Amino acid sequence: MAKIISIEQSFGLTAMAEQSYDDLLKRAREGLPTNVTTHERFRIPDVNVFIEGKTTVLRNFEDVCHGINREPQQVLAYLLRELGTAGTIDGRRAVFKGRVSPSKIEDRIRGYVETYVLCSECKRPDTRIVKAERITILECDACGAHRPVEVRKGSGPIQEKALEEGKVYEVMIMDIGRRGDGIAKIDKYTIFVPGTAKGNIVKIHIEKISGNIAFARIARE
Ligand SMILES: [Zn+2]
Repeated sequence: MAKIISIEQSFGLTAMAEQSYDDLLKRAREGLPTNVTTHERFRIPDVNVFIEGKTTVLRNFEDVCHGINREPQQVLAYLLRELGTAGTIDGRRAVFKGRVSPSKIEDRIRGYVETYVLCSECKRPDTRIVKAERITILECDACGAHRPVEVRKGSGPIQEKALEEGKVYEVMIMDIGRRGDGIAKIDKYTIFVPGTAKGNIVKIHIEKISGNIAFARIARE
């Protein structure tokens, strides 16, 4: 703020008399290097959400993740847990099962940013997540502060799901393999599900896991 005031003052009294304070401030801001103005207050990128059939699409998911400087997989894992739904990354978009209101998605992203991104001291987003022993620490590159990541009540820590044989999962079929089987992804696992089509959201029963590959069938309700 100190910088803005000094530039504002340099406009002098004549300019002050002719222009409104807002105009002056705008001119002063435009004359500043961008890193000064953009770091004043961190803004979460606006979400671009639409409903497509029985799914909700967050069209600019990759841009949002880029804007908050976090891995899409981690952000998605948090969102799915907080929204209580299944979903997947589809190119630059995230697709959630069911109809989820934009404000709900926005709210959860804000929650993620507060927990995993913003420095509690200087409120800047220039932070890194560092794991030490069992604790996750958020380290700030801007001011050097660090704090433990405190996950909101009711939420577990973000961790990779270990797929289990014999269990049922809900997935979206993202692709079709060469033999015509549907392909779904859960974290590191690629799962083959015969008898499904691209875009299907299905409950599957895991029959066999081999490394990062799993074979499943559609679960009976
Ligand atoms: Zn800081």
